[in-house]
This record gives sequence, structure tokens and C-alpha cells, in this order.
Amino acid sequence: MPFSFEASLVYATGLDQKDTLHPFREQFLFPQHNGTDVTYFCGNSLGLQPKSVSDLMDKELSDWARYGVEGHFRAANPWFSYHHIFEERLAKIAGALKDEVVAMNTLTVNLHLLMMSFYRPAGKRYKILMEAGAFPSDQYAMETQVRLNGHDPADAIIEIKPKEGAYLIDDEDIISAIKADGEAIALVMTGGVNYYTGQFFDLEKITRAAHDVGAYAGFDLAHAIGNIPLQLHDWNVDFACWCSYKYLNSGPGGVGGAFVHERYGNDPKFPRLAGWWGNDEQTRFKMQKGFIPQKGAASWQMSNAPVFNMVAHNAALDLFEKADMDALREKSIKLTGYMEFLLNQITHLPFEIITPVERARRGCQLSLLFEDRGKEVFEALTQNGIVADWREPNVIRIAPVPLYNTFEDCFRFYRVLLTI
Ligand SMILES: *Cc1c(COP(=O)(O)O)cnc(C)c1O
Repeated sequence: MPFSFEASLVYATGLDQKDTLHPFREQFLFPQHNGTDVTYFCGNSLGLQPKSVSDLMDKELSDWARYGVEGHFRAANPWFSYHHIFEERLAKIAGALKDEVVAMNTLTVNLHLLMMSFYRPAGKRYKILMEAGAFPSDQYAMETQVRLNGHDPADAIIEIKPKEGAYLIDDEDIISAIKADGEAIALVMTGGVNYYTGQFFDLEKITRAAHDVGAYAGFDLAHAIGNIPLQLHDWNVDFACWCSYKYLNSGPGGVGGAFVHERYGNDPKFPRLAGWWGNDEQTRFKMQKGFIPQKGAASWQMSNAPVFNMVAHNAALDLFEKADMDALREKSIKLTGYMEFLLNQITHLPFEIITPVERARRGCQLSLLFEDRGKEVFEALTQNGIVADWREPNVIRIAPVPLYNTFEDCFRFYRVLLTI
């Protein structure tokens, strides 16, 4: 059903009054501009700080002070098993079983660790298929993994581009490329949501196509997790990784996450690089020879949990739990739809929205591609207390985030654009 919106402040604030998620805005701290909260549309780059982080951090510090090393077992959330406190909430957001997810490391590190398990080229099967224009960290990871295995990236990496003159990649083009080179492909690896265009790929279809040719399918969910409800288990995805500082609001460099399907996680023979923290918890402190992987994705853990780097994650996931991912998605569709409607009223600025129009193919981000004057518009937004995101050479990305953005925020953005 298409929405019928109105471009007025009264209408926008009316939608906010009816929005049951509106109170969550109060749970966050906003940067200030001329003494008032900025209008923040950068949650796809760094989510805002939940107010509850500070108290939780104090509690963790005082457990350290009070217990010293005994905090491993006596802290309110014992450090020995700290990663377990995230499983249930992460599993819901990722659409996974509890054992299939783990909070650990950071995104690119997890990507490399998982590729050590899932990119094992052999004979004629050594290629990686990925989307062109992937986030640079992913490109570097693929390139160096390929080299590590003695192959040439120019030959071993297949990049799928948008059709001539288009900005988006057809899911069907990915699928036919998988079929075309099936026997040579070891791994299909794309973003969930492309960071530049905001395009959400059809992860289920891509996974099926990869499996049909005997390849693994893995995804970088940096821009998808906490943005779009996922069903990684049911989609049969082999592995995925993400960061927590974008839509998950867990602070700069916050702990990342990983998904490993149970068919590998529960197979102790499946190859993985190990450290003591991934070892079976019954024998972890026995300091014996012979790695015994614990159950699930947690067996990919290497080091003991960076507890202070996980406190904000704990606070933020509580908010997701309370708000509920499906309710967030419902609001997100409407909020992004409203922003799109308002942007479509603007005729005096030379931009087009390159993010897919179809709801199923996008999350909350809209990417505005400017013919010219993009940087000037971006600077005017900044001067007016609007935090957006500039991507070279000519794109402004905005993310109306359902946890803390409002319909009024969208209207304010529109009104500032009108004055430029
Ligand atoms: C943000 C982002 C990253 C960042 O990687 P880190 O290891 O967390 O620094 C990687 N890949 C994608 C697709 C991203 O959007």
C-alpha cells in the first residue's frame, strides 16, 4: 500500500504523536548545535550513544575495583562468560539460533577469520564473486586472502557491476554470474546493504545460487544489521559478520559480531583458527593440549572478551529488545518513505535518489547523487545543524533511523533544503 503523505510540520508532528516508538528518542544523547540537538541522519555511520551506557560502564568499573581477578566469576556479568549475554538478543536481530551468533573482535577481523574457514580454494575452485564498489575494507580483505592463497586478484575476484548507465546491481545479474562461473567459484561474498547506494541484496536467493554451484555464501552485514530484519538461519547463509557501531549504536570501534550456520559451528572438525576463548568452557582453564571447540559460532573466539568495549553493546541491544526489530522495520519503512516523499517535492536542486524505490530492496538509508553543487548543499546542511554524510565524489547519504529519528526531523531536513 502506498502512503499518502503531506509536506507540512503539523502533519509530521502528528505522525510522531501516533508513533509508539517515539519515546525511544529520549534514550539517546544528541550532539549539540547552537544550544539545541542536531538533526542526526548519520546513524548508518556512527549510531548515537544510549544514555544508559554511562551507568553500565560505572558498574563494570566498580566490579573490577571490587573483585579484581575474581570478577571473571563474581562480577554481575561474569567476564568468563561475558559473550553469552549477547547471544539471545543478537540471535533475534540476525534471525539466527543462539549458538549461531557471537559478539567478538571487529568487522574486518571477523571477515578474515571466517574466510580462513570458508575460503579454502582447491584446484579449479578458487574464485570469489563479490559486488563491484564494495566497501574498501572488504575489497582489501578479498584481495589479500586471494594472494595469501597464491592467486592473482585480477583473475580470482569476479566483480559484478551495475548495468551500463545504472547505479544498482541486479540481483539476477549476480545469480547468473554465479551460474556462469559455477565450477570456479569457492565463495560468494557481498554486502547485505551496499554502503554507497543503500541497496539491500536478496541474500536468500544469492545463498541458494551459491550453494547450487557448490560455493559458500557469506555476507558483510555492516549496513544491514539493526536496519533490516534478517533470517540468516532460514536463508541458509553460511557465515556473516557485522560491526555494532552503525545502526546498533554500540560506540566507536564497538565489538563486532559473527554468524556461523550451526552445520559448521557444531561440527568440531570444521576448520577454524583457534584461541583459548573458543575452547570448550569446561576445560578452558585446564590449560591442556588439544583444542576442543565449544559449540557454535563462539568457537571462533580467540581472546578473552574486551569487556569495556562490550558495555555499550549491552546497553544498546536492550533498546533493540524493547523496541522490537519488526516494529522498528515497520516505522522505518514509513519514515524513509516520508523522507523520500519530501525529497521528491524538491525541484530546485540537481540530485536524484539512487537508492532502490522498492521497500524490499532498501533499509532506512537514502543516497542522493548530485549532478553538481553536492558539496555546497552538504555544507549548508551542516551549518543548519543537520548531520548527514558526504561520500566522494558526489553523494549525500542520509539515514532516518527509526530508533531515534522523527517525522519532524525529516520535515526539518526538507525545510532546510528549500532554503538552499
Ligand atoms: C563500516 C564498514 C566496515 C568497517 O570495518 P571495521 O572493521 O569495523 O573497521 C567494513 N565493511 C563495511 C561494508 C562497512 O560498511
